[in-house]
Amino acid sequence: MTAVPPTVPDGPPSAQDVRARLERLRARIVAAGGDPDVVTVLAVTKGHPAAVVDVARGAGLTELGENYAQELLAKVAWSEQHPASGGPARWHFIGHLQRNKVRQLAAHVALWQSIDRAELATEVARRAPGARVLIQVNATGEPQKAGCPVAQTTALVDHAGGLGLDVAGLMTVGPTDATVDPRPGFDVVRGLVDRLALSVCSMGMTDDLEVAVRCGSTMVRVGTALFGPRSTSLAVRD
Ligand SMILES: *Cc1c(COP(=O)(O)O)cnc(C)c1O
Repeated sequence: MTAVPPTVPDGPPSAQDVRARLERLRARIVAAGGDPDVVTVLAVTKGHPAAVVDVARGAGLTELGENYAQELLAKVAWSEQHPASGGPARWHFIGHLQRNKVRQLAAHVALWQSIDRAELATEVARRAPGARVLIQVNATGEPQKAGCPVAQTTALVDHAGGLGLDVAGLMTVGPTDATVDPRPGFDVVRGLVDRLALSVCSMGMTDDLEVAVRCGSTMVRVGTALFGPRSTSLAVRD
């Protein structure tokens, strides 16, 4: 594990900072041609202390995302002890998901964004019948990357739907190499969302959200631009 940079604070970011950052984020979405009523902001809280939940809820963010099962469960437990005045968050699972973590997560996840293989869809359908899911697509063809190959996406959407899951749309992560243009991959995923008559197109993060919005994203998943740099040592890894 890499050392925590000294600039990373040990507490959550302040509510005032997050509100100001959210304003700037909305302005970026608008400047890219996005309608803030159409493009949902999923606030990615990974790597921040659990109290970030309260800060996010206080800023009006209701959809929160985590990559690791243990970290999501830790934040859910904290939130149960510290109920937010605006009501509980809706949790999205956005990381690589091991099948044996599904049971523990089932009661807490509002949208499973990283369904990328048939066995995983089957397990989610078993533990959380009728759950709302996105199929994660590997649109860049990088071999190490999570996600269903583009050519198998239709079959996986059909499989998940056949299990009774509510397949709302697709999710993708841009190229790992920041010098590679994310547009071709985003165009492919948006095209699949349209062809399959789905509604949610989850793409775009802090560094590539303008391109994603221009390509038709309906949900950007943003951590750094809202909460600042992450601490790796705070994260509860699976
Ligand atoms: C961490 C993460 C994000 C947020 O990344 P930022 O660059 O901090 O905005 C979005 N999506 C996924 C799948 C992630 O793992």
